[in-house]
Amino acid sequence: KSIHSRANWSSDSESDSSGSECLYRVVLLGDHGVGKSSLANIFAGIQEKDAHKHIGEDTYERTLTVDGEETTLVVMDTWETEKQEEDEKWVQDYCMQVGNAYVIVYSITDRSSFESASELRIQLRRIRQAENIPIILVGNKSDLVRSREVAVEEGRACAVVFDCKFIETSASLHHNVHELFEGIVRQIRLRKDSKEI
Ligand code: GDP
Ligand code: MG
Repeated sequence: KSIHSRANWSSDSESDSSGSECLYRVVLLGDHGVGKSSLANIFAGIQEKDAHKHIGEDTYERTLTVDGEETTLVVMDTWETEKQEEDEKWVQDYCMQVGNAYVIVYSITDRSSFESASELRIQLRRIRQAENIPIILVGNKSDLVRSREVAVEEGRACAVVFDCKFIETSASLHHNVHELFEGIVRQIRLRKDSKEI
């Protein structure tokens, strides 16, 4: 329901750096057209027909109850901008720095987006090397069986190599999308619990 604009970024990071609130930033990464915004909109509960009303708004906050416990996720669909190249570089650097968890999306119908996903994983590992941040590799558009270019086994194998979780989703059919966000919450909790011990 509550949607923040980019203008809120700085105040967001100030207020939650105290750690008093259980709020986690989940950044969506991946090539253009793989379905990042569709997944973000489902997370936010926005119907496809309303999606055009939210142009320019790309950060969504929602509290999920997973295993009987509440966790607030702020999903950032900010990887792509319509702005100048210079701004894009700044925004992408920012995205790589601020996530508490990452969703790397490719389309199962687009092999080059699968290759980009590997590159993004490598980039992320380089930038955030000391941290054990949750990363989920997502093969989206699983409904498009006849245009499939990347096998499920390839996605799964890639996730093993890159030490992250893997799920195939269909934003169109809403298949596995809630499972994806619940999975992120569980991954975040696992990391958090192991730190506290
Ligand atoms: P983004 O560029 O990564 O934000 O991708 P979008 O969410 O804008 O989606 C790009 C296009 O792919 C749109 O036309 C979507 O309707 C379509 N799309 C997204 N997810 C799916 C999916 O799971 N299945 C199918 N068939 N189309 C999808
Ligand atoms: Mg988009």
